[in-house]
Formats: sequence, C-alpha cells, structure tokens
Amino acid sequence: MRDELINIKNIAVSFILDAQDKKTLEEVRMQFLGRSGKLTIAMKNIIKVPIEDRRDIGQLANEIKRIVEEAINQKIQTLTKFITEERRSKIDLSIPGILPEIGHLHPMTQILYDVVDVFKTIGFQAADGPEIESDYYNFEVLNIPKNHPARDTQQTFYLNTRDTNLNPGEIILRTQTSAMQGRVMEKTKPPLRVIVPGKNFRYEQVDASHGFEFWQVEGFCVDKHIRLTDLFGTISFVLGKLMGDKTKIKFATTNFPFVEPGVDTYIECTVCKGKGCSFCKNSGWSEIMPAGMIHPNVLRKVGYDPQEVSGFAFAIGMSRLVTLRYKMDDLRLLTNPDLRILEQF
Ligand SMILES: [Zn+2]
Repeated sequence: MRDELINIKNIAVSFILDAQDKKTLEEVRMQFLGRSGKLTIAMKNIIKVPIEDRRDIGQLANEIKRIVEEAINQKIQTLTKFITEERRSKIDLSIPGILPEIGHLHPMTQILYDVVDVFKTIGFQAADGPEIESDYYNFEVLNIPKNHPARDTQQTFYLNTRDTNLNPGEIILRTQTSAMQGRVMEKTKPPLRVIVPGKNFRYEQVDASHGFEFWQVEGFCVDKHIRLTDLFGTISFVLGKLMGDKTKIKFATTNFPFVEPGVDTYIECTVCKGKGCSFCKNSGWSEIMPAGMIHPNVLRKVGYDPQEVSGFAFAIGMSRLVTLRYKMDDLRLLTNPDLRILEQF
C-alpha cells in the first residue's frame, strides 16, 4: 500500500510538471484527485489496511494528497505567469507603428547631385580640388596678375605664412572654383570636359544674396573648334534641366580677365517672377553664372596652343541656384541649422 501511494504521487507529480496548459492540468487533477481518481480510490482502500498500519498509511496518504494539490496550484501560477509574459512579448500588428526619423539630404547636396547628373549626360567628368589654394592657381594662371584691378572684386582671405618659407599672401582660401582650371589643364591634354563642384570663400558683407562662404560648380570644356554658341547651348540645356524648360534665361556681355569674350547668365527671379524684389535687387533677374570663352593667355599658361584649341568656362552659383529653385528669399537660410527650415526640403 505504501509503495502504491508513493508510486501514485510520483506519477501525478510528473504529469503535473509535464502539463503545458490549464486544460491538461485539470485532466491530471481529475485523474488523481477526482471522485474516481487514483489517489481518491487508494485512500478509500486504506480501510482494508491492517489496523496497526492504518494510522501511518492514512497520514502518508494525506501528505501525498497535500503534495499533489500544492504541485497543481504551483503549476497553475506558473502557467498564468507564462501566458501573461507570452502575450506581452507577442507583437501586435494592429498597433500603428512609430516611424524612426531618418533625415534627408541638405537642399544644397540635392542640387549638387542633380547638377553633376545633368553634366554627366553630356560627357562632363567631375573633379575635386583643395579649398586652401595658392595665389598662382587662384589668380595668376587665370590671367589675373598681382595688382590687377579684378582682384579687388574678390575680397580674399589670406592665410598666415609667417612661420613658413612661403611669401606673404601666397596661400589663400580659394575665391573661385576656377582655380581648378589650371590644375586640371596642366595635367590633361585636350579634349576635356570637366566640372568642379566646391566651396569658395570671400571676405564679403553677408546679406540676403551674398555669403562669405558659397558653393560653385566650375565647368570648362577645351577642344578643337569650340565656339561661343557651344557655351550658350550647354548653359541653356543645363539650366533647362535643372530649373525647368520654361525658365527664362538671358545673356549679357561682361568682362572677366580669364575669358574673352565674357558673358553673364541671368535667370528670371523665381522669388518675384521677374517683378522685382530684395533678392534680385529689384531687377527681376538673378545673376547665376559668369561664363565666357577661355582667354588665350590662360590656355598658353597651361601649355595649350590657342591656335590649335579653344574652350569655354563657366561657374554656376550653387547657393543662388538652390535659393532660386526653392524660392527662398534669403541665402542665409541655407546655413541655418534650424531643423524647422531644413525639414521643408
Ligand atoms: Zn526677385
């Protein structure tokens, strides 16, 4: 009888431990503690045990019943906890998601990529150059010798050369990406079509349409028989692609030492649609791209023969292109770190 009771207990406990849900557990309870459960019947049979052992067996039976009941109660608690945890860890697909903020490209970068893409389609390659530049590449090679009045229009940041072997004024922050013309042409034989996107620096009074730091995309093309009409065609194509085919463009003659003849490209002010505003200084037009045919002196300086080859060059004012495309009336917004501004693009 004793062995039988202990056997029932062992089986009952192992069933209880194996139970994976409350339904199974209830079945186990009925199997052992129910009206005709194994333990219940065993306990009824205690009466058949010889009288001298009956008390001990009775105690054992009660103890085993208590153990089995406790095991069932503990298992119920474990199962309840498990179910709650499982429910908590399940993903509820009906809850609206929280989108992480992933940011985007700065408007200047967006336009820069667009510009490079457009030029790629007509065979231009992009080059990169130093922002700290020598006076030679920034001015001299571009037909702007020392004391040339054109230097006055490009207020220059000079770098300290006191503790070096360099002459004062020799190292500057480049004032124009045109500085790359000399660097590229010296090393490359024509034909070439190159664009140079980059940052320039001038000691300028900052206002709605001027900054001391601004982006340009320099471009130049040198080959046999390059003419002014090639320049006009290239500029019209590029601006049409970037600003829309209906954008009004006009060219005006101007003078820069590194081009002959020089032209200035204007596009209709998108802020005021040509009516005149503070951004376009009430002219209705915005100057966007100085350009021209590369001066023979520049070609000679880099070792080309102006009788053999000719070329055109231009510099797109990127900062102004961005403000015109997005109809921003102030260039300074581009360098403002306020996310409320940047998130609009
Ligand atoms: Zn305007």
